[in-house]
Parts: sequence; C-alpha cells; structure tokens
Amino acid sequence: MVKISTKTNNELVDISEKGFPYEVCGFLLGELEYGVKESNGMDNQFHIKEILVCENINKETPEIRFEMKEGEYQQAEYTAKERGLRIIGIYHSHPNHQSYASPTDNLYAQPDTIYLIYSIMSSKFNELKGYILNTKDWELQETKIQIT
Ligand SMILES: [Zn+2]
Repeated sequence: MVKISTKTNNELVDISEKGFPYEVCGFLLGELEYGVKESNGMDNQFHIKEILVCENINKETPEIRFEMKEGEYQQAEYTAKERGLRIIGIYHSHPNHQSYASPTDNLYAQPDTIYLIYSIMSSKFNELKGYILNTKDWELQETKIQIT
C-alpha cells in the first residue's frame, strides 16, 4: 500500500501533463514500513513525502521510454539523506497509454520500491496505478493507493 498527499499527487499529475507527449520521470522520497505478514514484499507500506524531478534523457523514443542520467540515483540518495528520508520509489508517465506495468517496467523493477505510473491521454490525466515487485514471482503487482 502507498500513501500520497493530494498536494503531491496533484503536483505529479501536473508534471505528467506538462511533459506530454513525452514520458516524465523522477524519484519518490519518504518512509518505508516493511510488512510482516507476507514474505513477498506486497504488504510493505510506502509513505511518499517528497518528489525529485528528473530529466528524461532518452532522445530516440521518449514517448514510450524514460532514461535517467548516470549518477542521478546517487544524487537523489544524497538529497534524501539530507532531508532525513530515503528513496522509496520512482514515478513515470505513460503518454497515450494506460497505467499498466510494461515489460520494460518489469525488467528494471527492484524490491522494496513503489512504482507510480501516471497515464496521460491527449495531455490530460487519465489514471494512476501503483506497483510493487512481488518477489515470489518477480512481477510487478498492483497495490492500493491512498490519496490523503
Ligand atoms: Zn512504463
């Protein structure tokens, strides 16, 4: 399960709409509470507190793929630490596609990480879905999003 404030969610919707027709991407900072009932990571709880916007440096197919600059993760980790937080996830947008986890999204997915996917249709917000990597079958699995 993931918790995000209305304000932060609106910010991400806005960024995703403005970035249309290209994919936008960035880090989600916050706190992670590990689950106890299951051993596949699906009962972890993510509390998103801040976001870090990244540049999509993919020049060939930015409509369907995002790529971050080398060293961006380390930089984000440093910023998170400074703010007493940690990187708990990654957001990106799907311009003119639904918020499904694509084969590429699955390929790069890491455990204990929340993935938010904003679907933008014709530059307007369509839907948001959140995914966690299920470490039993190593597939991204949809999780509940609580907008507070
Ligand atoms: Zn994707």
